[in-house]
Amino acid sequence: MVLNITCIPGDGIGPEIVAQAKKVLEKVAAKYGHEMKFTDILMGGASIDACGEPLTEEAIATAKAADAVLMGSIGGNTSTSPWYKLPPEKRPEAGLLRIRKALNLFANLRPAYLYEELAAACPLKEEISKAGFDMLIMRELTGGLYFGERKTIEENGELKAIDTLTYSESEIRRIAIKGFEIARKRRKKVTSVDKANVLDSSRLWRKVVNEVAADYPDVTVEHMLVDNCAMQLVKDPAQFDVILTENMFGDILSDEASMVTGSIGMLSSASLNDTKFGLYEPSHGSAPDIAGQNIANPIATVLSAAMMLRYSFDLDKEADAVESAVRQVLKDGYRTVDIYSEGMKKISCSEMGDLLCERI
Ligand code: NAD
Repeated sequence: MVLNITCIPGDGIGPEIVAQAKKVLEKVAAKYGHEMKFTDILMGGASIDACGEPLTEEAIATAKAADAVLMGSIGGNTSTSPWYKLPPEKRPEAGLLRIRKALNLFANLRPAYLYEELAAACPLKEEISKAGFDMLIMRELTGGLYFGERKTIEENGELKAIDTLTYSESEIRRIAIKGFEIARKRRKKVTSVDKANVLDSSRLWRKVVNEVAADYPDVTVEHMLVDNCAMQLVKDPAQFDVILTENMFGDILSDEASMVTGSIGMLSSASLNDTKFGLYEPSHGSAPDIAGQNIANPIATVLSAAMMLRYSFDLDKEADAVESAVRQVLKDGYRTVDIYSEGMKKISCSEMGDLLCERI
């Protein structure tokens, strides 16, 4: 199979970590008989420096022509970089918003997985963390409170602010379908999170999720109120497989779920549209404080590439091979500086890439 992948190395540690992910993908291609066709585009600060804007129309066209996009990270030091003296629409992050919109990416996926070898980094009590957890937060990305009509008015001599939370049936249906499809590739359980005891938008959410669930009799569905979900994530995270939720709830819960893993350099993510196309990137930023030193942890980006193999190309066996190489390298005691602990072997970013390749 030929895999046409647009890469966005980006800024800071971006180029270093994307180079490792490409190396791992090349190894997968060699082992399983595929061909990787990588095309790099500029985005963020690198694009501002070269083209005067954070993302060009040509770059968008290149991304659209690919099967999937693999990104490192964009942005610089927000206090000292000249990029942040520019107006907001010219700053690095504007490129990310623009590409998400241009590619119609409406479903954001963030796995939270606790590796046995990194369990010490988990901030939860051992009696909870020892059960492990492996969940995926699926967040709606283009609707809800962040995109509804908003205004601030003066009424009876004081200011009043109004934000509107709207969801249509079709917006809910398309993300619910994604959620159930993805649950089928995992442990076949969907926890749909809402606030249906208060909000109309949540009652519609629940109704549509139940309608979609009827088409997936092999997947278990349960509904949970968002306040309860926030508690359950720290009380019993092992109960979750796919958590399906709207934009703002997902924004908050996905950060909570990530943080209970305790390791920022390990967290992958994906943003999908209604085809197989997706943009895959680590959850962390461009880490300008350690850029250029070859010490960043490339695993979040490598695991994002594994998600790409699974969700954009349906190459489950290949994705499994990458994920098991990550587990193996941790078992063998190799650590980049961010996940290093006493008695382990400290290695560089590129060494981590090489060791992962050896295990595929
Ligand atoms: P950050 O995630 O870049 O860094 C936070 C801390 O974690 C730093 O100490 C950093 O060294 C460390 N870290 C992050 N990733 C690491 C890795 N792979 N290996 C080892 N250590 C790692 O967050 P920040 O400092 O708040 O943001 C830096 C820049 O990144 C900003 O310009 C911000 O806007 C941008 N950013 C971009 C994205 C994106 O591209 N999607 C996401 C978040 C932040």
